[in-house]
Amino acid sequence: MPADYVIVGAGLFGVTFARNVAEQGRTVVLVDKRSHIGGNCYTEDRGGIHVHMYGPHIFHTDDPDIWEFVQRFAKFNHYRHRGCVHYKGRIFSFPINLHTLHQLWGVTTPAEAEHKLAEVRIPCANPRNLEQWILSQVGRELYEIFIHGYTSKQWNCDPKELPSSIIRRIPIRLTYDDRYFNDRFQGIPIGGYTALIMNMLDHPNIRFETDVDYFENQREVKSLGQTLVYTGKVDEFFDYRYGRLEYRSLRFEQEEHAGDYQGVSIANYTDPEVPHTRITEHKHFEFGNQSHTVITREFPEQYDETKTPYYPIRDEANSKVYDRYRMLAQTSNVIFGGRLGTYQYFDMHQVIAQALVASNKARLAA
Ligand code: UDP
Repeated sequence: MPADYVIVGAGLFGVTFARNVAEQGRTVVLVDKRSHIGGNCYTEDRGGIHVHMYGPHIFHTDDPDIWEFVQRFAKFNHYRHRGCVHYKGRIFSFPINLHTLHQLWGVTTPAEAEHKLAEVRIPCANPRNLEQWILSQVGRELYEIFIHGYTSKQWNCDPKELPSSIIRRIPIRLTYDDRYFNDRFQGIPIGGYTALIMNMLDHPNIRFETDVDYFENQREVKSLGQTLVYTGKVDEFFDYRYGRLEYRSLRFEQEEHAGDYQGVSIANYTDPEVPHTRITEHKHFEFGNQSHTVITREFPEQYDETKTPYYPIRDEANSKVYDRYRMLAQTSNVIFGGRLGTYQYFDMHQVIAQALVASNKARLAA
């Protein structure tokens, strides 16, 4: 007998959806084409260090309900992310805060910083792109050091062609508060994300299977459940009938070293000449003091069908194409979710929120 739901993709959307409907008495089969669960949150244990295999994941939310939800499946540590930028041999505090401005300009108080910023800002009444917006906030020197190189590498285009929303997620502060996120609740699941996801799937109403490619087994997969929930690329689902949406991909290079490599979990490299955007040293997410360490260099890459689509490129042209797919999705009897299913640059807490809303709505409609 088919389950109530068959979910394609065991990332955070699929797993949250599965857990929520399972707790409401529904049955679920979850399939994933990868040989593991957890989507891009997946972590692997390397001698006690939980390696974030698809890039660093730092949990943060302002929503007490989301925080309460995830805490049912893992204990979170007190990790607070603080960035660090390497630029032409110098190291700066990041996101831009009073300490950064002190390092650059020698200012020490918020008033001094404001005075200096007022001199360098390039006002723009109606900033239409990322570059105009950031220049209007912090001026050219900071733009060149912190934003221009990193953003050009990450997105492979001129920041003039990007929406400012990409960068507005990062705070700019005139205090010594150097936390990356403003959210009240933050941390890393102790034991890694894979354990968190496994606990979410640990319910008698949930079955899951890895190494199952939806497109190669469409008929069988669909027959596993009455309602299909799909979290892969929405354009691929509809056979690219309105054209291909654009994504940005990444390549990771992992190394093991003795001791402590860089003294911080993530170091951003903002020089345009350095090919990687960041180096993640995984043990610092859990305050590890192992005698070895694992680091990952992250290289942005052009996406093609052989690679993993990490970031949707939500510029104007792609948004128009996506809008057509969205309309199509609404008229189908399939539930779409997650970064790829709804073509959105989501953080983990947003994916969970989206999955809870979608699964509650599905229950009411049933
Ligand atoms: N960014 C930047 N310099 C940095 C870090 C980030 O210019 O040192 C910009 C860049 O355009 C990036 C965006 O801010 O794509 C969002 O950064 P975030 O760290 O939130 O990216 P994620 O971790 O989601 O890749």
